[in-house]
Amino acid sequence: MEEVLTNPKAGFYINRDIFGAEGDFITSPEVSQMFGEMVGVWAMCLWEQMGQPKRVNLVELGPGRGTLMADLLRGASKFKNFTESLHIHMVECSPALQKLQHQSLKCMDEENTSEGVDKRSLSTLAGTPVSWHATLEQVPFGLPTIIIAHEFYDALPVHQFQRGSRGWCEKMIDVTEDSSFRFVLSPQPTPATLYLMKRFKWAVPKEVEKLNQIEVCPKAMDLTSTLAKRIGVDRGGALIIDYGLNGVVSDSLQAIRKHKFVNILDNPGSADLSAYVDFASIKHSAEEASDDVSVHGPITQSQFLGSLGINFRVEALLQNCTDEQAEALRTGYWRLVGDGEAPFWEGPEEQVPIGMGIRYMAMAIVNKKQGIPIPFQ
Ligand code: SAH
Repeated sequence: MEEVLTNPKAGFYINRDIFGAEGDFITSPEVSQMFGEMVGVWAMCLWEQMGQPKRVNLVELGPGRGTLMADLLRGASKFKNFTESLHIHMVECSPALQKLQHQSLKCMDEENTSEGVDKRSLSTLAGTPVSWHATLEQVPFGLPTIIIAHEFYDALPVHQFQRGSRGWCEKMIDVTEDSSFRFVLSPQPTPATLYLMKRFKWAVPKEVEKLNQIEVCPKAMDLTSTLAKRIGVDRGGALIIDYGLNGVVSDSLQAIRKHKFVNILDNPGSADLSAYVDFASIKHSAEEASDDVSVHGPITQSQFLGSLGINFRVEALLQNCTDEQAEALRTGYWRLVGDGEAPFWEGPEEQVPIGMGIRYMAMAIVNKKQGIPIPFQ
């Protein structure tokens, strides 16, 4: 899964722009500017709870086109004390997407950046410095840190296990004689089995009793532990928004090409692979990694955006816009907070806006000393 998505030559994310109506899928920041603005409100509230530190690292994991961060900075640009404290760090493996993010943030490169040093630029949206990195580990330590991960965890590689006469065996991929791919079961324990054991330890027995298949995501567990340790020491917090379950995930790995589900093994690298995020496993990983963090949620995206005031924001935007913009705001609002098909839709049936408000969830991991983050009280 990791190779298919991030291989430097053939990875799905590497050479192309896969977002939007023309691409393979559309995400919340691309649906409406309100999404990034609301995440900005969350980040500012956290910064207030941190005691308005003078210098803060604002990290985004997997920023896609950079739309969320651009909307966040534009929305926050009037709050100078906040924006002046920020150094933005974009964690992105794809050079093509790094370029797009640079454009979205309207960046100007600093002249004295030398070869070999991480590129550093200035975003003209709010006058904030921006750096790019391939991994979270490369973001400098020592400053309070706000981390945002929207649809990042669902791209991390999962391992699937199946229960059979030999107990739990990992599903692996094999090459057949005619050079096509097929699934097979591992004859012996694999390295990921250690993570499966850990996941079982956290599960309620009745959660797994009936299951014949289970997914674990070692990368998600390790990333959470890295991030929680950093927040425990440096202060700050992380916001994770994704689709998933607050418990064990059985069988969710899927492939999407041009907005349609396709076979996972069909032409790898040409379709997006993603899996449900197991929020319970994130919570346990964070709590196990650091005694200095607390974990909040998950709550639904609808609750999260609603409590942060998206209703007021949409009303304000509707006051001053064209009919066409009003239509886009209404459908965008539904996509972000609604549940299922929009009841007010009068356009073509195949284009009916589908609400992501319940399927998507938000979770926060914060330094305990800062109290409970908004809006998780
Ligand atoms: N957050 C964006 C994009 C989501 S798609 C949005 O909501 O629109 C996933 C993003 O994570 C892409 O930018 C992809 O290139 C990046 N990504 C995926 N796996 C990664 C990895 N292992 N390391 C760094 N970036 C990764």
